[in-house]
Amino acid sequence: MNERVAQLAAQLSERELDALLVSNPENRRYLSGFTGSAGYLLVTPQRQFLFTDSRYTEQAGSQSPHFEVVRMKAGLGWLLDALKETGVRRVGFESDNMTVASYNRTLDAIRDEEELGETSLIATTGITDELRAFKDKEELAQLQKAIDASDRAMEQVCPTIEAGMTEKEVAWKMEAAMRQFGADSISFNTIVAAGPNGAMAHHRPSDRAIQAGEPIVIDMGARVGGYCSDLTRTVVVGEPDEMFHRIYNIVLGAQLTAINTVRPGLTGEECDALSRDIIAEAGYGDNFGHSLGHGVGLAVHENPRVGPRAENVLEPGMVFTIEPGIYLPGWGGVRIEDIVVLGEEGTKALSKAGK
Ligand code: ZN
Ligand code: ZN
Repeated sequence: MNERVAQLAAQLSERELDALLVSNPENRRYLSGFTGSAGYLLVTPQRQFLFTDSRYTEQAGSQSPHFEVVRMKAGLGWLLDALKETGVRRVGFESDNMTVASYNRTLDAIRDEEELGETSLIATTGITDELRAFKDKEELAQLQKAIDASDRAMEQVCPTIEAGMTEKEVAWKMEAAMRQFGADSISFNTIVAAGPNGAMAHHRPSDRAIQAGEPIVIDMGARVGGYCSDLTRTVVVGEPDEMFHRIYNIVLGAQLTAINTVRPGLTGEECDALSRDIIAEAGYGDNFGHSLGHGVGLAVHENPRVGPRAENVLEPGMVFTIEPGIYLPGWGGVRIEDIVVLGEEGTKALSKAGK
């Protein structure tokens, strides 16, 4: 049994579950090491199964030595057999991930088996997701590679942006550069939002030509070894005007304050307030509509939550973004985003791209 499965097994007994059926792809990978695109895990404290189809059984065998690899065939016989063999009764499933159709199919199949008359499916949320909020050494090393790829791309491409280039052209240059610096892929669709487009926090790059003097919000990420980076910088071609200086300095001050003062024991909501209060005091509280940040790892958005209603407590070992912004309709936006890891004494910034 690997360390992560041992932690999960402890969670199962706390929740009075005999087993967990894992369908979420990131959770599957996190627990088993298996990187294929299809499969399920059934984890009990005694036995761990990895079900996958014929494309992946060989790969699964080498990537997941702690799991019994079972080849999936049409129907659900592979699952029913494992349930019978292990005799588990209270089987949790991931209700954030499993579709209603899949749940119904599984439940019907179990009810059709006399031998599984005592077996029930129990909705769970967040068990493995909560373990994933804490990053071990190996994960931090992968994350740093992804972060370095986007940092280096940002630093290489920004000085080459000229008036007249389109948002799409800049997005493509960034994506190509991230690949050049080691990304396996991008971790989400790159955002390049110039001028008034920047007032929309998640604008898609368009054919709009960038103009000198307007703010350009660039939000992008690389994926390396499954781990995602997420980086935002706001830049200007030519000379920024006074308005830009003012808004940029408020956002930067709000961001640095949160990075420098967040401590273990604060909730996500309290961390969010470290930046939000500064932006509100400056008169732009209504122009910062999204959460301050989010956890990042195998998924680009994961635990912990860092926002106005996030009750989760931030603890050492957690990795999350800090990304305040101000968005002014008709003018544009400024957002600055870095990834930090929380230690006993405070944060360490993992992103190093210039601001
Ligand atoms: Zn981002
Ligand atoms: Zn983000």
